[in-house]
Amino acid sequence: MKYVIVLSDGMAGRPLKELEGKTTLQAAKTPVMDMLAPKSEMGIASMVPEGMAPGSDTANLAVMGYDPKVYYTGRSPLEALSIGVEMEETDVSFRCNIVTVSENEGSYEDQIMIDHSSDEIETADAAVLIDALKEGLAKEGYEFYVGTSYRHLLVQKNGVISELTPPHDILTKRIGDYLPEDMVLREMMEKSYEILKAHPLNGERRKRGLKPANSAWFWGAGRKPALTSFEDRTGKKGVMISAVDLLKGIAVGAGMDRILVEGANGGLHTNYEGKARAAVKALSEDGYDFAYIHVEAPDEMGHQGIIKDKIAAIENVDEKVIGVVVKGLEDAGEDFRLLLLPDHPTPIEVRTHTGEPVPYLLYDSTKDLGTNETGAGKYDEESAALTGRTWPKGYQLIGHLLQEELC
Ligand SMILES: [Zn+2]
Repeated sequence: MKYVIVLSDGMAGRPLKELEGKTTLQAAKTPVMDMLAPKSEMGIASMVPEGMAPGSDTANLAVMGYDPKVYYTGRSPLEALSIGVEMEETDVSFRCNIVTVSENEGSYEDQIMIDHSSDEIETADAAVLIDALKEGLAKEGYEFYVGTSYRHLLVQKNGVISELTPPHDILTKRIGDYLPEDMVLREMMEKSYEILKAHPLNGERRKRGLKPANSAWFWGAGRKPALTSFEDRTGKKGVMISAVDLLKGIAVGAGMDRILVEGANGGLHTNYEGKARAAVKALSEDGYDFAYIHVEAPDEMGHQGIIKDKIAAIENVDEKVIGVVVKGLEDAGEDFRLLLLPDHPTPIEVRTHTGEPVPYLLYDSTKDLGTNETGAGKYDEESAALTGRTWPKGYQLIGHLLQEELC
């Protein structure tokens, strides 16, 4: 038996009046999900424990079977693992976003958060800007590292963890109300604005109609995590397929292999089929038991707040990921169980993550898991909730997929 998780990041949402009361998942044309749903088990699972922030970090740890209350030490340390940064026990790491804030008259505090991703800046451009920050903000005990796109890293020696605000939570808001209390971080951010606003690369970006990537934004502080090996816990040899450093970092921490797929970039135009085919090959040819296919696009479109793009991302996941995986494994003659779910909702109207339970679909190619429960037979937020099947401890759901009692 082979096992697949298709993690469609941020796919769940809330009813929208623009869609006559439907969610984007309900409005999307999803023939593959519609075909699997009547033969599948449906339900909802709480991936984010009470009192924890609904991040992709906590939620994906839970989907992977790690109780966030036990294993979560912050998002940026997981990303540090993925880009090969060796953290000491006393280090604190921070996510360093390259963001776009307004360039209005007045102080840094008075600017508005416009885009947490600087138009999903390309890594090569971001690397130039991070280099400028390394030079302009050089400070004993602080080190910058280049990650991917707008997602980078700052590591502080002998650091202290403090509460920081994710930039995607304050889109359109005045940043002065959300700056770090830590004066060193705050001054670095303010100075980054001076450096980046005047950087020639941003002059070029403005000319090309792109948003200037004009400020560093620190958040997601944490210490080195200690995940137990996925294979030791489950007896399954697993592989992670994701374009996102956070997920790659979870895989490194869990001792799973990673496959890098060309053209997989976390955006709407990611290489969906490439990811799906990589999973089929890993499972049917390369000896893996378990593949985790993570697709960032629906979440990113939720943050951008564009209904048609979020629907397009979901339709792409349906056709080009789930469709290709199911057909590929069937053609290869493999028996498999497939779990489809988001890690958390990213509703269009709030443009950020929320902590509600997520709908899941569990399909088994060897038997019909369909039921006559209310809500059964259709995969969306409302139907899955109507089945009444709930997993209050979402981190236990993977055991159900793997048909194992995990401790
Ligand atoms: Zn997420």
